[in-house]
Amino acid sequence: MHYFTYRGNELYAEGVPLEALAREYGTPLYVYSKSTILRHIKAYKKAFCETGGILCFALKANSNGSVLKLLAEEGAGADIVSGGELFRALKAGISPSKIVYAGVGKTADEIAYALRKKILMFNVESGEELEMINSVAGELGAKAPVALRVNPDVDPRTHPYISTGMKKYKFGMPVEDALEFYGRAARMEHILVRGIHQHIGSQLTEVAPFRDALKKVLQLIKRLRATGVELTHLDIGGGLGIRYSKEENPPVPEELAGGLLPLIKAVPGLTVVVEPGRSIIGNAGVLLTKCLYRKKTGEKNFVIVDAGMNDLLRPSLYGAFHEILPARRNRRGSQVADVVGPICESGDFLAKDRRLAMVKNGEILCVMGAGAYGYSMSSNYNSRPRAAEVMVDGEKHFLIRKRETYKDLIRGEL
Ligand SMILES: *Cc1c(COP(=O)(O)O)cnc(C)c1O
Repeated sequence: MHYFTYRGNELYAEGVPLEALAREYGTPLYVYSKSTILRHIKAYKKAFCETGGILCFALKANSNGSVLKLLAEEGAGADIVSGGELFRALKAGISPSKIVYAGVGKTADEIAYALRKKILMFNVESGEELEMINSVAGELGAKAPVALRVNPDVDPRTHPYISTGMKKYKFGMPVEDALEFYGRAARMEHILVRGIHQHIGSQLTEVAPFRDALKKVLQLIKRLRATGVELTHLDIGGGLGIRYSKEENPPVPEELAGGLLPLIKAVPGLTVVVEPGRSIIGNAGVLLTKCLYRKKTGEKNFVIVDAGMNDLLRPSLYGAFHEILPARRNRRGSQVADVVGPICESGDFLAKDRRLAMVKNGEILCVMGAGAYGYSMSSNYNSRPRAAEVMVDGEKHFLIRKRETYKDLIRGEL
């Protein structure tokens, strides 16, 4: 559910026509709907937090300070994967007691930073990382709270690049090895064993893989308890999908909770941590882009727009589908076209062989579902300044990040 809807022929973000925003702020432009974000946060809180769970937003999906502030105000925590994300989360007012830190390559400096800030726990991905955390904590005279990330080896049935919970991927430790790793962790002087973590992938559209993974992890928790290792936190990861195309019908947070919490309740004494990114912010954002030119080759129609793979990488990187709608509907009928950007790469496209409204030069297209892994994956490739970002709240709108300038491109160069 989101608040981008047509009124008559004009597409609105809440109470504001998107065309007006494109005119005022220029394109390419990311536009977010505050009510949509709040709606999703509340859905997660209702599903998981009323029973004592902790909601940790995955910053890598979208780390704009205004988005994070909204989450902080709603009492959400953060799932971070770098020191930079920790910096952003703290700056936005997110409580360190609700921050979990995952990722296979945490550096000693990043570990020290997170220890000094007293985060909830490190989600540890390897034995060597565990040794490193123990040693850094020792230097600081601290005890590092950890969860071990286990790889439950289930197929989340999603794109391989955003699939993590299978043995062939770099994430976590095999369930069979976990007992040994927990034993080692429990004996380390500067480690406090606090929890267990799983995150099997992203854009999951069914509850079943979550359940399959969870069953394996709960089994492991029971075996650990039998050996005297008491875990208090169960981090079930993120990964709930959103509806990019009409064929996708992902469950809502309530359905996810309904599938998982009864299993978890059977093992008493566990605080649940959930780490959604995409399902909070994905369909709460769109990318506005202007049609620059149209072009016909022998084989194809191309709609050339002013947003490229540097602005929204997902179609190029994953072959991801994003619905593309005109900001103003017309009666010119439709065409099948590739929607491409200005970048000098054939892989630079927003849509391929797509049936699309007939657009004219200067008209605005809206790339839907661009709130997650959109701006956060953007770059300056081809020396393109990054887009601006705007938050809509009812009839009001606010610039939440300025468009970069040419000067920004060379800032820091010596
Ligand atoms: C990316 C990531 C998430 C969030 O995934 P979504 O699909 O955006 O919900 C959660 N946890 C970890 C460890 C991640 O790497």
